[in-house]
Amino acid sequence: MREFAGKSVYKGIVLGPVIVLKKNDYRVKREKTDDAEAEIRRVEGAVAQAQAQLQKLYEKAVKEVGEASAAIFEVHQMLLEDEDFQEAVNNTIRNEGVKAEYAVAVTGDNFSEVFEGMDDEYMKARAADIRDISNRLIGNLTGRAEEDLDAAGPAIILADDLSPSETVQMDKKKILALVTVRGSANSHTAILARMMNIPALIGVPLDLEEICTGTEAIVDGYGGKLILQPSLELKEETEKKIQDEREKLQLLHELKGKKTVTKSGRKIHLFANIGSVSDIGYVLENDAEGIGLFRSEFLYLGKTALPSEEEQFNAYRQVLQMMGGRKVIIRTLDIGADKQADYLNLDKEANPAMGYRAIRICLKQPDIFKTQLRALFRAALYGNLAVMYPMIISADEVKKIYEIVDEVKKEFEETGIPYRIPEQGVMIETPAAVMISDELAQMVDFFSIGTNDLTQYTLAIDRQNEKLDDFYDAHHPAILRMIRMVTDNAHKHGKWAGICGELGADLELTEEFVKMGLDELSVAPSMILRIRKKITEMD
Ligand code: PEP
Ligand code: MG
Repeated sequence: MREFAGKSVYKGIVLGPVIVLKKNDYRVKREKTDDAEAEIRRVEGAVAQAQAQLQKLYEKAVKEVGEASAAIFEVHQMLLEDEDFQEAVNNTIRNEGVKAEYAVAVTGDNFSEVFEGMDDEYMKARAADIRDISNRLIGNLTGRAEEDLDAAGPAIILADDLSPSETVQMDKKKILALVTVRGSANSHTAILARMMNIPALIGVPLDLEEICTGTEAIVDGYGGKLILQPSLELKEETEKKIQDEREKLQLLHELKGKKTVTKSGRKIHLFANIGSVSDIGYVLENDAEGIGLFRSEFLYLGKTALPSEEEQFNAYRQVLQMMGGRKVIIRTLDIGADKQADYLNLDKEANPAMGYRAIRICLKQPDIFKTQLRALFRAALYGNLAVMYPMIISADEVKKIYEIVDEVKKEFEETGIPYRIPEQGVMIETPAAVMISDELAQMVDFFSIGTNDLTQYTLAIDRQNEKLDDFYDAHHPAILRMIRMVTDNAHKHGKWAGICGELGADLELTEEFVKMGLDELSVAPSMILRIRKKITEMD
């Protein structure tokens, strides 16, 4: 029995055989050629074939994991068109007189090394994308059929690093878990694993050469562990845990379709948090009563340009239609800090969490904001939409937002485009917003408390810094008092208040939140039924 630690990017526990993907076995020989131009034409053919393959993959991914996650295949298509890459391949063929396979392999290695050496975590993660496209090209050049990764049935996939296209090509039903030696939590593979609900560990120090396909293993996403050849005792323990998980889930599913009401008749709106249209499946599966936080910024990530009004309108309308009249609260762009989009060319900042982000960007660059508002107000005609604004610190900001909303309204009136101004609320996620919540409550329709940032700013603890985990007290009395204060101020002015930060899903606090009078809790879809159980059992 051998145990390895890694970083868990999606929780869950599984037991089964492993499939080892020894991608590095695939080595390209340095073969010479006399006809460089013929080799260059072979590369062109392989590129065209790759473009068609990627288009298919993109369409498959849109259906399975949504447009935002599928966008990576568009990025791959663009990387294939990159003139520097093509020129480097052609020059290698001409100058060294080598065959296409070798030229592509060398260029792919060089380019991915450049990306790997960059400081920016996002750019670093793109090295895997470069390796992915060069492997695809080599595969096409050699006529090697794409490996059928899932041919062997349900298994734990062990790999050096998985590319997004490999991940999305796999048949979800046949993967028990994903474990990689390399890869970052920011990689698209990690994002896809989370979307696909597959337990995944990254950064596991394995020597893949010495592990055989078929070896039994346990992936414990809760403890961030991979255990090879587990003892009989541990296997039995794990099987029991898996069975317990299944039974708990089964019991919870009996709560589907039930109301979230305490025994004494208090109703709590139990909503779900999502990041993309494709997450709606989990929302419906877990019977959420609405969406309390749609992090719209995910529509802006993994792209090369801002999403157009039409693209946003289609996404918002789709969510509203799929939720069929249930409330959908879409948060306007909360980009910046850990969520960066290169095309915005934001400066590097010493304190990005306290920097140029979220509503600050929207107020300074109103064109970006107006495009989003237009898409939202047009989509509002298709369901029960509410919008909320992030990172508010002053009443003046709310006034400025309303001025921009009025401009958008005026433009619609002038052009005759149909629209509806939905309910508008603010996120309470700064201590400043808490302290002026009495005033803010008179200006907005509702409050949604973002405890993730509120805790970060109140306790002066960078939420990204894992070294501070021991200091991060999610139950700190300052936070709980703030939540109470915000709720009281909302109610004083006849408005409702909810929580959409992670604390909202903390079962130890559910009872306290209900007692404080919170009207809504918005949590990860997988937590909905657990919280409903807790609330329905409360007096
Ligand atoms: C929060 O800050 O609590 C919140 C819900 O927003 P995010 O986690 O996206 O910053
Ligand atoms: Mg926040």
